[in-house]
Amino acid sequence: MIGMVYLVGAGPGDPELITLKGMECIRNADVIVYDRLVNPILLEERKDNCKLIYVGKCPKHHVKPQEEINEILFQEAKAGNNVVRLKGGDPYVFGRGGEEGEYLYSRNIPFEVVPGITSAIGGLAYAGIPITHRSISRSFHVITGHLKNQDEDLDWETLASIDGTMVFLMGVSNLRMISQNLINNGKDPNTPVAIVNWATTSNQKTIEGTLSDIYQIALKENIKSPSLIVIGDVVNFKTSLDFYSKKPLLGKNIVITRGTTQRSDTINKLRKLGANAISMPTIEIKEIKPNNELDEAIKNIDKYTYLVFTSINGVNIFFKRILELGCDLRRLANVKVAAIGSSTAKTIKEYGINVDFMPKEYVGESLVEELKSRVSETDRILIPRAKAGRPFIVAELSKICKVDEVKTYETITSREDNQYIIDSLKELDSYYILFSSPSTFTNFKKIAGQDAEDILKKSKIISIGPVTSKTIQEQGHPIYKQAREYNFDGIVEILLEE
Ligand code: SAH
Repeated sequence: MIGMVYLVGAGPGDPELITLKGMECIRNADVIVYDRLVNPILLEERKDNCKLIYVGKCPKHHVKPQEEINEILFQEAKAGNNVVRLKGGDPYVFGRGGEEGEYLYSRNIPFEVVPGITSAIGGLAYAGIPITHRSISRSFHVITGHLKNQDEDLDWETLASIDGTMVFLMGVSNLRMISQNLINNGKDPNTPVAIVNWATTSNQKTIEGTLSDIYQIALKENIKSPSLIVIGDVVNFKTSLDFYSKKPLLGKNIVITRGTTQRSDTINKLRKLGANAISMPTIEIKEIKPNNELDEAIKNIDKYTYLVFTSINGVNIFFKRILELGCDLRRLANVKVAAIGSSTAKTIKEYGINVDFMPKEYVGESLVEELKSRVSETDRILIPRAKAGRPFIVAELSKICKVDEVKTYETITSREDNQYIIDSLKELDSYYILFSSPSTFTNFKKIAGQDAEDILKKSKIISIGPVTSKTIQEQGHPIYKQAREYNFDGIVEILLEE
């Protein structure tokens, strides 16, 4: 059967600016053909085994010819794949989406278009510039600045006479010519102009000037592509309408390596603070199923005096199973509950149970010390946790009373088809990289392979706590900073201090 092609607009950069429909397409795709301006974090939503085809600029600055891209779409769909052609902004705004659609039509391949927020409008909004404003700008015009024959391509006389807002795309390299032509054809040299580089991303930068001086300012500020050139009085609204440049982590590239469960929370929080959150998944959680030991422990839950949780995953798997087995939660009435870390405690609370105690420091040593002062030989402790949990806790506590360790999950290495993330890191000058457990670090090295050393050399490593730091240091990498509170909020605190 022939597959379907979706020409999907990914929005201007902020990954949350994609449409629901666009996201659904990504989740269902067998093949995703994507461009340079697409935020790579969107690709993480792809299903397993989805093939990724990059058709943007290669390291040697060469773009795949459109004919080749058309052919890829055709061949992949012909082979029966559900294909997503993912483009920055809107597919039909200087995105050559129309050409691709026509080609598919001529080859009898069915396709649909999912519009996106174009940078020409959405990008300006993030810079505090409304594309129209009552009585100031009654129309807007989106114009290509990518001109082959520099003087003749556009009707400069008509353009110069327009009162509405003008937005040039792909225009930075022709900025001088654009402003000169407008002035020469009668546009007021004092017309306000702004240039927005990497709009709606953490690296967004805006400069302002007038038609007569914007070129010099852009040179001085070293403004490059991708940028929007906005010409018109609406630029003056920036002072009151700019909300985005106030975010505290703006411009900071932060690589997140943690596992599936907490990854999207972490990314969202950092992104809301303005960071460029780069997701490099290293671990996945795999529940151990079926799990007779766990079922047995739950059946006898009231025989325990202590229930100890060392991670959020441990909590979720345990309570999910309790509910599945129809176990009455009142049977936990006489069981004291301990948790390592405030996030673990918070998760327990979500199941309606308050934690009896939390060790001062979020590590096993502190937990053992605290428990030692509370338990005696008649106690019985249940610890549902990761298969590869450190033996230390169980070994120490077993010296005092009976301890049942039940392994409920394994952490496994994430899928390794993540070269596109490694490539995007290579393009950055510096970044922070967060490690939240020893396995995030070891798996990171495994996934990054021969690029690992280079990536780590360029990065500032932030570790969640002493156990993780030790693993990293033992492998010869310096810790830039370690969280004071050994959890994610502790890491954010460090980043906000930077
Ligand atoms: N289809 C896209 C435009 C593709 S043409 C859209 O609707 O937005 C590529 C040009 O778009 C770039 O040269 C730049 O001028 C502009 N552009 C796209 N994303 C941008 C961004 N995040 N910041 C600034 N300009 C951007």
